[in-house]
Amino acid sequence: MNAPLPGHAASNPIAIAQALLAVDQVSLEYRTPQRVVRATHQVSFEVDQQDRFVLLGPSGCGKSTLLKAVAGFIAPCEGEIRLQGQRVDAPGPDRIVVFQEFDQLPPWKTVKQNVMFPLLASRTLKKKQAEERALHYLEKVGLAAFADAYPHTLSGGMKARVAIARALAMQPKILLMDEPFAALDALTRRKMQEELLLLWEEVRFTLLFVTHSIEEALVVGNRILLLSPHPGRVRAEVHSHQYNLQSLGGVAFQESARRIHRLLFDEGQSPEAELDHDFNDIRIAY
Ligand code: ADP
Ligand code: MG
Repeated sequence: MNAPLPGHAASNPIAIAQALLAVDQVSLEYRTPQRVVRATHQVSFEVDQQDRFVLLGPSGCGKSTLLKAVAGFIAPCEGEIRLQGQRVDAPGPDRIVVFQEFDQLPPWKTVKQNVMFPLLASRTLKKKQAEERALHYLEKVGLAAFADAYPHTLSGGMKARVAIARALAMQPKILLMDEPFAALDALTRRKMQEELLLLWEEVRFTLLFVTHSIEEALVVGNRILLLSPHPGRVRAEVHSHQYNLQSLGGVAFQESARRIHRLLFDEGQSPEAELDHDFNDIRIAY
């Protein structure tokens, strides 16, 4: 069974009826001359405004593929993706991706020019307004003083912040992040998670965030979709808004991490058994 897991809108009558993003029974495949690789199988989830929605699962379960489909780079072979009710069939400035390789910043452009570039290339803004918008978001990520610096002079964490500022400057309806901190050292990674949460407090953007780290999912997300190993299917959805970086190492946090681990890897017992553990913030998908 792969019943759709409704978002907050379905469980909260006060919320707006329509989810911002609906991923509806989506299967994704790669076709090569030799064979067909199924990356995800009938995956459904809904993301509401201001959600920090995390896709969590082991390497190869189709997280990046799902994100690329939401971005409009890959078409589902089954099911449908809708943004505010409109079927997604191409990339658009309302969905901006921050990839894990953020050495995607062209080295010949300054930090400010890097942030301005998509605004100008998409003809979203004229030069003057693009510059103002770029400086505004550089300030939000704490890099106003580095506006005229070149990317190679920045640390990994600073480059990640430029990539985030560049994405937010486009003011997308949803920000898509694919393991954006995976290449950073552990301390910088933690700092970036903290900054992302602070930035969210301030800007309240809607985030779809991919990770294979249970800990990162609990810290960054307010809702977590657990995907099975290849091909990715929905295992469960967990609410995790109660956790932040201060929760790390706490008893409740560790217990949640263990439960998620069991749900992901199905160790020893059926997922339904988890319901007996007063895990009342969880919905089991099968
Ligand atoms: P994740 O991001 O969860 O690690 P991916 O979405 O990258 O997983 O990949 C899902 C599956 O699709 C994997 O089995 C992977 O080998 C396969 N895959 C990914 N990209 C391609 C591609 N370009 N061609 C063929 N198979 C691919
Ligand atoms: Mg990936």
